[in-house]
Amino acid sequence: MPKNLSKTQAAFERAKEVLQLGVSSTVRYWGDDTPVIERGEGAYIWDLDGNRYIDYRLAFGPIILGHAHPQVNQRVADQLAQGTLYAHTHMLEVEVAERIVRMCPGVEKVRFANSGTEATMHALRIARGFTGRERYIKFEGQYHGLHDAVMWSTGSATGRVLGLPHNPIPVASSAGMPRGTIQYISVVQYNDVETVERVAREQWNDLAAIIVEPILANGGYVMPEPGFLEQLRKLCDEYGIVLIFDEVKTGFRIAKGGAAEHFGVTGDLMCYAKSIANGFPLAAIGGRAEVMEVVRPGGVWHGGTYAGNAVGTAAAAVTLEMLETTDALETIKQRGARLMSGIGDVLTEAGIEHVMTGHPAMFSFVVGRGDPVRNYRDVAESDMELYGRIGRRMHELGVAYEADPRDGWFLCAALSEADVDETLNRFNDAVESVK
Ligand code: PLP
Repeated sequence: MPKNLSKTQAAFERAKEVLQLGVSSTVRYWGDDTPVIERGEGAYIWDLDGNRYIDYRLAFGPIILGHAHPQVNQRVADQLAQGTLYAHTHMLEVEVAERIVRMCPGVEKVRFANSGTEATMHALRIARGFTGRERYIKFEGQYHGLHDAVMWSTGSATGRVLGLPHNPIPVASSAGMPRGTIQYISVVQYNDVETVERVAREQWNDLAAIIVEPILANGGYVMPEPGFLEQLRKLCDEYGIVLIFDEVKTGFRIAKGGAAEHFGVTGDLMCYAKSIANGFPLAAIGGRAEVMEVVRPGGVWHGGTYAGNAVGTAAAAVTLEMLETTDALETIKQRGARLMSGIGDVLTEAGIEHVMTGHPAMFSFVVGRGDPVRNYRDVAESDMELYGRIGRRMHELGVAYEADPRDGWFLCAALSEADVDETLNRFNDAVESVK
């Protein structure tokens, strides 16, 4: 039976009157079907008509423990009574930074920010300040936030516009960006060790940074091939380039110490956001003390009115404590592994060629191809239309994940075995109905 969406649709009409397209982030705009959410609790969200969804979107990743987590909320509520923001250091910042240094390999010093966009913006400036160089390498299909330097060749463009495989063309991901930014960027395909080496050899003299999502998490959750991250580390050491790990999605999710721990390779700088504070706005830039030392008066300027605010750091204090001291991430991994293998079984049973990608805590899959995916182009050339139809049907059936293989499924610790069973049953129904 079709869902009743009357209140949700009326609310969206109202939203459109005052919010441009009815949303606060363009990626949330689905045309007339744009959802309007009333509340979230644990692994679920509810729309305005009371329809419940098992949530694998989780606000695009941050909700690592579950929506409205009681202990996180309580700590934030306690802090509210003592103020939210001061023009001075407070002890929550110190406590959280100490924990990040303990949890995250390669992090000796920390500065806070409010979003992943800010974190990568600061990291790039720190890299330039440290090296005195201006250029940077970014990988095709990777997303590092909304600032001009990185809104190039993200996961929006497909086809010939991307250029030759070993010589990709930087493609602007937004109107309104200065064309001049292009002079600083070299775009390389993810997992293409030979091309990174060539570009590093040719340009090292002016290369400040290589910025990389250790997993291609905004372009299909493609995993690094053995040796890829190690080779980036080696090139950066050899040529004095700053390696920036954008751990905004991987941090505090795929392992307690993020991708640096999981893959055993560290950046010189790591950017964290999302899972750091279970949905409260907080981000962090952390890295080697020698590199972070350029942040000082007369050096690289870092700051922000809300940087290190007491609300975000209170949420992070509890979130990180729980991630460090409980088996939350292990539970997530086990449930994710069961989901991945169950989804694969349903697709196999239905005769749909597919490849599962990513880590159990955040994964995706492509349909319409059986060969391993190595980079963004492999994902973009898969049957994204079929993936989308399955995803939209899942939404109708009460399971919410992004209906696009470039952005995948996130799991939270509140997800139960019963939720996994329900999801797999719904997935079977969805595949049957769209096949
Ligand atoms: N870096 C990565 C890897 C991301 O996935 C995102 C957001 O999805 C960002 C940076 C930007 O983070 P924010 O949306 O908090 O600005």
